[in-house]
Amino acid sequence: MPSEEIIKEFVIKIALEVLPYSQVANDLNIDRKTLSELERNNKLALKEMALIRQIYIRKKFQTVTPREFLAWYTSTPRKCVYCDFTEEDIQLLVSHKQIHTKRLSTRGKTLEIERTSPNLPYDRLDNLVYCCYWCNNAKTDEFSAAEFQPIGQVLKMIWSRRIKAIKETNDSR
Ligand SMILES: [Zn+2]
Repeated sequence: MPSEEIIKEFVIKIALEVLPYSQVANDLNIDRKTLSELERNNKLALKEMALIRQIYIRKKFQTVTPREFLAWYTSTPRKCVYCDFTEEDIQLLVSHKQIHTKRLSTRGKTLEIERTSPNLPYDRLDNLVYCCYWCNNAKTDEFSAAEFQPIGQVLKMIWSRRIKAIKETNDSR
């Protein structure tokens, strides 16, 4: 059985860096049979990593490597930096029909990656944060992060009210 470390590297090399199988086998010092087994046994992890690659590609990074992006992706708190909205909150509100935007088929269900200072390139990973569609859409390239902070606090209050209303309804059943 390959170690956890080998499995992790395998998934990164195949689905994020998209290296040739021969190179991956060589780098990890494993034979092709083990490689095929790893692929069969880690389908979900490969799929999830491929999604991270898609996001990486979409951002058109110039200098950031896929691995550097992965480090950002896995270490950045997954909630809106302005209103604290999480994807679980969004799901809860969607399932109770408490999200009203008609854009939901294209935007809203997942957090977006936003540049705190809109004039800096995406390549500045220290400038990237997660942001909900509503804050991102309202902030535009007009407001600085500091200027938008109080607006985020108001939105946070509104989301909290909607979530509280759902939880109270559930409790009273
Ligand atoms: Zn937000």
